[in-house]
Amino acid sequence: MTTTPPPTCQFALTPEQRAWCARLRGLGADRLAPLAARGEPGRVNRGLLRELGALGLLARAVPAEPPWRPVGALELCLLRESLAYSCPEAETALALQGLGAGPVADAGTAAQRARWLPAVAAGRAVAAFALSEPGAGSDAAALALRAEPDGTGRGGSDGAGGSDGWRLTGTKTWISNAPWADFYTVFARTGEATTGKATTGKATGSRGVTAFLVPADRAGLGGEPLDMLAPHALGTLTFDAVRVTRSDLLGEPGEGFGVAMRTLNLFRPSVGAFAVGMAQAALDASLAHADRRRAFGGALRDLQSVSHQLAEMATRTEAARLLVYAAACAYDSGGGGGGGGGGGGGSLARRAAMAKLLATETAQYVVDSAVQIHGAAALQRGHLLEHLYREVRAPRIYEGASEVQRSLIAKELYKELRKEPPAHEARERAATEAEVPRP
Ligand SMILES: Cc1cc2nc3c(=O)[nH]c(=O)nc-3n(C[C@H](O)[C@H](O)[C@H](O)COP(=O)(O)OP(=O)(O)OC[C@H]3O[C@@H](n4cnc5c(N)ncnc54)[C@H](O)[C@@H]3O)c2cc1C
Repeated sequence: MTTTPPPTCQFALTPEQRAWCARLRGLGADRLAPLAARGEPGRVNRGLLRELGALGLLARAVPAEPPWRPVGALELCLLRESLAYSCPEAETALALQGLGAGPVADAGTAAQRARWLPAVAAGRAVAAFALSEPGAGSDAAALALRAEPDGTGRGGSDGAGGSDGWRLTGTKTWISNAPWADFYTVFARTGEATTGKATTGKATGSRGVTAFLVPADRAGLGGEPLDMLAPHALGTLTFDAVRVTRSDLLGEPGEGFGVAMRTLNLFRPSVGAFAVGMAQAALDASLAHADRRRAFGGALRDLQSVSHQLAEMATRTEAARLLVYAAACAYDSGGGGGGGGGGGGGSLARRAAMAKLLATETAQYVVDSAVQIHGAAALQRGHLLEHLYREVRAPRIYEGASEVQRSLIAKELYKELRKEPPAHEARERAATEAEVPRP
């Protein structure tokens, strides 16, 4: 008698994927870390970018040639996790190229893509994603960088800049790769809603935001580097009536917020992957240290409080990894996997938010625990954990702070509840209806 095999659930990487990750970790340690060490803190490391390009790794995070095949979320996660394990600087350099070029891949014209994407994927051009402002961080839709119609056209009746384009005026801040990038994807307020419907005056919030590709050599564009806890290339940008035209648009006027969100949606699970890579590096260092280090007549690992701490670190890291992979796979398959009950996983937005939240919070816990297990040595400048301790903090803030992710998760849970009330409610309703005498 033949039986149909039960349906399987895939919770592990394929042997090919595991081999690729091992190769990436090796490249990180052997080819990239030495170049990262030669970089100047707070500056874009162009040598490192060129090597990432030559190794073909940037082309996995940035579509490099027509037909500009979209980046795979799981592939991006594996890449970021593996590089984060052995060379966080290379990981960050790669992710920022992907983030800055994302809006061009998503909404750029054929000319914009051909001009910039191959250069970004080769590590010859540096990209940056400029959304945050002094008054608009978590509340990105409050952005105020003005895009005012330029020239005699006065923007035309569609508020779309007429034939003469716009002038950008205002400030962006906390922009990675600024002020060293070669171009910026910039989100500005064109001021009027033009999304298909009649213009209704000044648009606030996410409406009326337009995305532009602004080359760094545009007159009126300036910037200053900022000195951060982890030595990232990051700074402010000032726009003093910087001229942009229709050929600099990324997508349609008034639809820029969607362009920004689509790029962030692709990258959100991969921020979690970055965190998992750092957590795994901290965990492995702690296992080795606790095995080696002698105290009270034995190895540190023989102390139960230490071994239990290691077990907790490993368990939480693995849970975070699985959630990241599940969110990335759901993104790649284009569906969230159904409602909340029954392990379906819920919406893509909820899964991505959960993955980013759990992984970044877990990495903070694991790296901090690793410092504790190592003692003073971990705090010495140049130690792996001293470096990870500074690196691990920012991901809980950028691309949606943990609190913002929690709000998003709760909102999605209620959306799902409205769509699909819990089964027990349906049963109770049926029972109540059965009891009510019919007239
Ligand atoms: C290393 C680094 C790199 C960055 N790179 C870029 C980049 O390349 N491009 C770019 O555009 N931006 C970038 N940013 C900026 C980043 O996106 C913002 O820092 C982030 O959006 C948070 O904004 P904020 O710092 O202004 O904090 P705020 O928005 O002022 O929030 C501060 C805190 O308030 C709380 N909070 C805020 N909103 C809510 C809410 N809805 N519910 C509950 N609590 C809330 C949270 O605790 C939050 O951490 C970067 C930041 C860092 C640290």
